[in-house]
Amino acid sequence: MSNLNELYQQVILDHNKNPKNYGQLPPPCCSAEGKNPLCGDHIDVYLTIEDGIIKDLKFEGDGCAISKASASIMTTVLKGKPVEAANEYLEMFQDLVTSDQPNEEHKDKLGKMAIFRGVHEFPARVKCATLAWHTVKDAVEAN
Ligand code: ZN
Repeated sequence: MSNLNELYQQVILDHNKNPKNYGQLPPPCCSAEGKNPLCGDHIDVYLTIEDGIIKDLKFEGDGCAISKASASIMTTVLKGKPVEAANEYLEMFQDLVTSDQPNEEHKDKLGKMAIFRGVHEFPARVKCATLAWHTVKDAVEAN
């Protein structure tokens, strides 16, 4: 049984308090802005891509604990991965937080992101959890 307490587990609270890779990257980098008006979340992501690899990425923004923690963990997941991973992970993550029966194999791949499964019980928070991932995808596509 998921409940709100579970949703706000320590990992989410920690990343919200001490977000990883918080800040901007100097140009030339690709960036995108994401907004979730339902909750008031606002995020900017910055990526440095070299030879198809995400060499560095950072984010800045204001929002709820879930959106910030998701962005923070996302930066640790995607750093060093090929750009295609941004899309691949977004799809896996979307499945995890919206599907009634998420793909179990994805859970392993998603690692820490798997804690956001609790969001499934709170459809209004799905956008909070996926905002950073959609924003990274926009940044990669605009690159
Ligand atoms: Zn939110």
